[in-house]
Amino acid sequence: NREWHLLSRPVGWPKPEDFALVESPVPTPGEGQVLVRNKYLSVDPYMRGRMSAAKSYAAPFELGKVMQGGAVGEVIESKAEGIEPGDHVLHFFGWREYAAVDAKNAVKVGTGAEGVPLSAYLGVLGMTGLTAYAGLLRTASFKEGDSLFVSGAAGAVGSQVGQIAKLKGASRVIGSAGSDEKVRLLVDEYGFDAAFNYKNGPVAEQLRQAAPDGIDVYFDNVGGDHLEAAIGSLNQGGRVAVCGMISVYNNTEPAPGPRNLARLIQTRGRIEGFLVGDHYDLQPQFVQEVGPWVASGALKYRETVVEGIENNLEAFLGVLRGDNIGKMVVKL
Ligand code: NDP
Repeated sequence: NREWHLLSRPVGWPKPEDFALVESPVPTPGEGQVLVRNKYLSVDPYMRGRMSAAKSYAAPFELGKVMQGGAVGEVIESKAEGIEPGDHVLHFFGWREYAAVDAKNAVKVGTGAEGVPLSAYLGVLGMTGLTAYAGLLRTASFKEGDSLFVSGAAGAVGSQVGQIAKLKGASRVIGSAGSDEKVRLLVDEYGFDAAFNYKNGPVAEQLRQAAPDGIDVYFDNVGGDHLEAAIGSLNQGGRVAVCGMISVYNNTEPAPGPRNLARLIQTRGRIEGFLVGDHYDLQPQFVQEVGPWVASGALKYRETVVEGIENNLEAFLGVLRGDNIGKMVVKL
């Protein structure tokens, strides 16, 4: 059993020396537990926060111990009622090959043979999908006819935000991403009305061109100049859902705030952060509504799949660099 340990807390960009891939015995499941052989591991931007000591919504990873994260795998031994060997479960003990999991913390999922790939439970039908759904519909109070801007638009959350908004009658959907290839994908495959590469020029200017009539909703995955640009283009009664601020996660100094917050007064604008963990009551509704869109192809998704536990760290760093299109997962 190989597992990734955090050795030291990264300052700025995480370095390989901050981590180690460690060999350890396959755990023995206790009463009420199942032994899972992981098949897909999730790597997510929020993990960067857990590598720091600063108090946040999730406790810091412990130094010298295995890290955690979403994972799906096959049960190979069960000491719990209701879960049998051969079942597949979603759980929270990623960054390792084998995990002993309390049955109460394991959610049974399909086997991957029903047309829904196992990896989808980490992405389009999992945590990032629900993040898109809850942030857009609940936090941003998105409604038919709204125009929407989403950053990180070719990523797991962002690509789903833009498409759900389209499917729910957005008047215009605009996305930003970090490469021309991603920008083409947004327009050609995901049906965005406009998209731009934020590396090609100032975000505010590119957004004004893409949204000449302004925006009603901004779904923020990035922060920084994206947030300021969005506030600058916000229409009357506009809403900003703050989902993430990936542009600042590796900063060693606090980033400057938006300089145009006064615009919220004249626009009666609202900015509100949210955490997906508070919105799991929406999970059944999310699966009921989004599941058929995924099955029919009305909502498209991509995954970037990296193979091998030894590449788990590189995959995580790749998410921070923007190597991924759609959800980044590690296949074991
Ligand atoms: P993504 O699949 O979107 O991957 C992250 C992407 O961020 C990269 O592909 C990269 O794409 C982009 N990026 C990296 N650095 C920058 C930068 N400096 N400026 C602009 N874009 C950058 O990840 P997720 O979909 O999993 O997460 C998206 C956001 O949502 C993150 O901020 C994350 O923290 C947040 N989140 C919040 C949750 C919540 O409960 N609030 C739950 C889940 C996610 P590019 O090539 O376009 O730069």
